[in-house]
Amino acid sequence: MLIPKWLIQHPRLGGENKGKKMFTLVKKNSIEFLQSSIFSECDFLVHAFCTRNGGASQDDYASLNMSFREGDEENKVLQNWGRLATAFDIPLEKFLVVNQVHSDDIFVINPSGDYFSSREDLNHDAIATSRKNLAICIKTADCVPVFFADRVKKIIAVVHAGWRSSALGISAKVVRLLHEIYGSFMQDILVAIGPAIGKCCYEVDATVANAFRKQKNNEAFLFPGARTNKGMLDLVEANRRQIMNCNIPERNIETSGFCTSCRQDLFFSHRGSGGITGRQINFMMIKGEAPCHVHIFDDKNYLVQ
Ligand SMILES: [Zn+2]
Repeated sequence: MLIPKWLIQHPRLGGENKGKKMFTLVKKNSIEFLQSSIFSECDFLVHAFCTRNGGASQDDYASLNMSFREGDEENKVLQNWGRLATAFDIPLEKFLVVNQVHSDDIFVINPSGDYFSSREDLNHDAIATSRKNLAICIKTADCVPVFFADRVKKIIAVVHAGWRSSALGISAKVVRLLHEIYGSFMQDILVAIGPAIGKCCYEVDATVANAFRKQKNNEAFLFPGARTNKGMLDLVEANRRQIMNCNIPERNIETSGFCTSCRQDLFFSHRGSGGITGRQINFMMIKGEAPCHVHIFDDKNYLVQ
């Protein structure tokens, strides 16, 4: 039996540490990105939660801005996509970016064949697929990127969870879809929740706070604010609770622990920047035929075949 190195570094999983600090900062060529330890053990996956570092964009968009929609120079954004494609050795046309419209719609992509004919077909905030060699992407600058992988059936899903989508329960909806469409078992679903604005910085008004009051365990992610009629929202925890309430074991869920607004040296933050900024890319892809060899039995026993 081999013991994964992240297990040695983090002998206590779940519970008190809530899966935090299990992300690793990695650099490929110029690109700096975070990887979830539990996803890194799945050898059928490529995944990255990119930072803002390693690109060609300047000033407010410095430097790895992956969005054409925020006012950055088009040729700089193209250069950034080129750098990403080169670093991961994935052809540019294999990256799929959806429109992200703050809904709870999930785009299910079949293993083969065409899957969209117009840009409007891409109005979704989640993607689920078993298709190989398709890098499904989520752009963020405070919103929560939530990644799912069924390590046995080799299904992946990515979610863009801003407050509206989170209030609509998008992460729970993805879990239900994985179960209903793909037959995923809860104990096989791994979850990595990437960098997002933290409860330290995400002040919300009564409209936003009220949208979460009907959710179970909202006392765990909704807090009084310092100012009148304001609250502090922990969007990562809101999504983590949604996922745990679907009976996915807590030990299967990792969170990055990074606040995008506090760490603008590493990440773009819409709130932290005042609104003019870039978007980082988060992507995941099924590589090919290589199986995932990680089997989790319980908190302490891991078998790598
Ligand atoms: Zn913060």
